[in-house]
Amino acid sequence: MPESFITHLECSNCGETFEHTDPMRTCTSCEKVLFARYDLDKASSSKAQLRDRDPNMWRYREVMPVKDEANIITLGEGMTPIIDAQRLGKEVGSPGLLLKDEGVCPTGSFKARGLSAAVSKAKELGLMKLTMPSAGNAAGAMSAYAAAGGLEANVFMPKDAPSANQVECLAYGANLTLVDGFINDAGRISGEAAVERGLFDVSTLKEPYRAEGKKTMGYEIAEQLGWKLPDVIVYPTGGGTGIVGMWKAFDEMERMGWIGSERPRMVVVQAEGCAPLVTAYNAGKRHADLFPNPHTIAAGMRVPVAIGDYLVLDAVRESGGIALTVTDDEMVQGVSDLSCYEGMFAAPEGGALVAALRKMLNDGTVSKDERVLLLVTGSGLKYLDVLTPALAALRQKSPTVRSS
Ligand SMILES: *Cc1c(COP(=O)(O)O)cnc(C)c1O
Ligand SMILES: [Zn+2]
Repeated sequence: MPESFITHLECSNCGETFEHTDPMRTCTSCEKVLFARYDLDKASSSKAQLRDRDPNMWRYREVMPVKDEANIITLGEGMTPIIDAQRLGKEVGSPGLLLKDEGVCPTGSFKARGLSAAVSKAKELGLMKLTMPSAGNAAGAMSAYAAAGGLEANVFMPKDAPSANQVECLAYGANLTLVDGFINDAGRISGEAAVERGLFDVSTLKEPYRAEGKKTMGYEIAEQLGWKLPDVIVYPTGGGTGIVGMWKAFDEMERMGWIGSERPRMVVVQAEGCAPLVTAYNAGKRHADLFPNPHTIAAGMRVPVAIGDYLVLDAVRESGGIALTVTDDEMVQGVSDLSCYEGMFAAPEGGALVAALRKMLNDGTVSKDERVLLLVTGSGLKYLDVLTPALAALRQKSPTVRSS
């Protein structure tokens, strides 16, 4: 029977350690991000057993945080396909182009990974009432996993949040509160509710386990590509949990002897209207300033301040990657490209990656014989509010309507 070899939590900044059996959010000394740590010597032999395991992210059970299998809440998330994008690759001039399609995850985005891990671990710790401020896919994923595990979900959303995200929370039976304000207002109200009603806040990187779910993308990329990582991974970055998680996964795999020391160059893509990490990268800084007046159609990237900024920027710099922005119009063009060349109707966050790749191929940051993987984080079906008019405008005509 596979088991988790989690040993403790460790602060990614000051190194202080904590018990993983206690409910924890950030480091109590310095308030930075906590990482789950494992006995990797014991976990290392599990590589040979992977071929017999179910095709979901819990196949990496030994390096996942849940101790008792009965607490795992899974909807089959993970082990998403990596597509050999020949038509799009030819169009943009990157013949080895790969797409990892996270749009097929439960709830339509890779937020399923993080919330499967975090909600499962919360259940294991007896934290049965969860809360989250979110305007997007995280809220739906939390609500789905809470429903499947019998936990209570409370969601605080700005009242102009996309209708898909509101409806899915309602469908999953979450307590949805629409806040007349911005995401930071929703965050404040969620925080107050947490104190008053004893709710556990599962905001990303403010608890240790969502990153553990997202790190499985790193494990999968290695496993699916025969333990040889691509040259470049391009990632649409909001809070940066995915990039932090994958970088951690690569480190764990190297320590277990599953891969060597080579790393992909990690590329952060943000929206021109909300680019705190790109700004900090260009300024040579390790911490980002609050990005004023954030706006973009890509709700997953509308994150004006990220607690894990230093972890994202460290990964980008250590890997020799870069950080760059694209406009909303370029994202829509990218959505169109993924759809028309590869049959993949992606979220604007995914479209952003195509635009970024075109720029990097143009200016020589990436060469045509490098193997590039675009991490397409969600499905376009969650974004009909914004994509319906945007794609119609791009095609310069609405769908033809005929009388019957
Ligand atoms: C949340 C989200 C992102 C950003 O993810 P982070 O790991 O927080 O940077 C990107 N794409 C989509 C579709 C998302 O929902
Ligand atoms: Zn600390």
